[in-house]
Amino acid sequence: MRGPNITIWSRALRNDDVAAHLPRSHVTPDLHSPARGNAEVLLWQGRVRILVAFVAGGAAFVLQQLGILRGSGPALLGLVAGYMAIVGLLGLRIHRTGTAGDPMIVATVLADLVFIFASTIASSPAAQYDRILILAFFVLHLTESYFGRQHAIFALLATIAGYLLTTKVMIARGMAMDWPDALWSVGLFTICAVVFINQYGSFQRRLAHIVDLFESAEEGDFAKAYDVKADTNPDAITRVGRAYNRVRLQLASMVLTDPLTGCLNRRGLDQALARELARSTRARSDLSLLALDLDHFKAINDTYGHIAGDVILREFGALLVQTARAGDMVARTGGEEFSILLPDTDSAGAYRAAMRVCETVRTHLFLVNGKRLHVTVSAGVVSASTSAADHAGANLKERADNALYAAKRGGRDRVCVWKEDVAAAV
Ligand code: GH3
Ligand code: MG
Ligand code: MG
Repeated sequence: MRGPNITIWSRALRNDDVAAHLPRSHVTPDLHSPARGNAEVLLWQGRVRILVAFVAGGAAFVLQQLGILRGSGPALLGLVAGYMAIVGLLGLRIHRTGTAGDPMIVATVLADLVFIFASTIASSPAAQYDRILILAFFVLHLTESYFGRQHAIFALLATIAGYLLTTKVMIARGMAMDWPDALWSVGLFTICAVVFINQYGSFQRRLAHIVDLFESAEEGDFAKAYDVKADTNPDAITRVGRAYNRVRLQLASMVLTDPLTGCLNRRGLDQALARELARSTRARSDLSLLALDLDHFKAINDTYGHIAGDVILREFGALLVQTARAGDMVARTGGEEFSILLPDTDSAGAYRAAMRVCETVRTHLFLVNGKRLHVTVSAGVVSASTSAADHAGANLKERADNALYAAKRGGRDRVCVWKEDVAAAV
């Protein structure tokens, strides 16, 4: 038998849009679409923007009145009022539509940058225009954190273009600015911004990947491990990934196996069945399923007690694992009901395997309370190639069960292969 079976379902992970990595709801995925997520963020950020503009604008106005800051008070107040109005209008529109796509994010970033440029120019001497870059870094941070790399790069390019344009205009007007200083400032800003965007983007992507791993684990899918080797500069997130990898196999075994026999449980079998059905459809290979049920097991329990029954179940599971080929998957699907999934096995091969199981069990002496007991098992066999018209897991299980019941009705300790009229067969 294989170790704990692990699904191979995987979900596409988009790389450059952080919003796309937000947790997806299983119930109402629409509510967690990126545009709705963006709307939610822009709405609360809008309130913060208005508050910050009000407080900072008010403080700058007071400083101007005290002669500490340069520039005209009314012009600054006009800018603050204009910015607050634009943020308010954008907020109203987002509130009405409930969504915010890329144009809304771009409009917000531009509003922020225009406000930063205009208010700095209105309140600082040209020699202090580096303040624009300090404040623009804040916009870049917000954009990268909430809207992802592409928008952050847009904010970076818009800041560089705005700063160069401001420099050109100011130099043309004979203000105290010069190109070497301006280029040096903008160069430093660009280096810091690129390092930040890269590092923060990597944090976000790897965190989103870890969320994805946990979501899969929640659904019993432990196929994917955290790719530790991809982290060239290991950090705290790498440590979380390593910790997940350490518990992954333990979790898989706890969730997918039956504690009494160590075989797969029903969930483990369902996952293996889905995986093998997909594989056999792709590869056009055979796939068979055996449904097994111990005969008159209730009588054994009634005679020897449940503990003895458990001993037999455990031994029966071990016998099945020994009898199965490497690659076959043995599962305990109910009390004394087991299944074996046989990849690359046609109907004739599955029948031989089932006969081998019946014979092995029939001739095996189960040791219970010092007594040697004989037990028999009945088997139903179905092959995906025989039911190719409907290649579904539930269908396969149902047919294997029908064949098993036919084997029971036929007298037990025997194998019955599923065919169209098996339900009526004796
Ligand atoms: P049949 O040949 O028709 O399958 O008869 P049966 O007695 O095996 O089937 P039935 O469904 O009547 O009884 C199944 C019994 O399996 C009932 C219960 O006592 C026993 N059983 C189910 N789960 C467990 C378990 O976990 N441990 C033990 N010891 N017994 C179990
Ligand atoms: Mg039984
Ligand atoms: Mg039963």
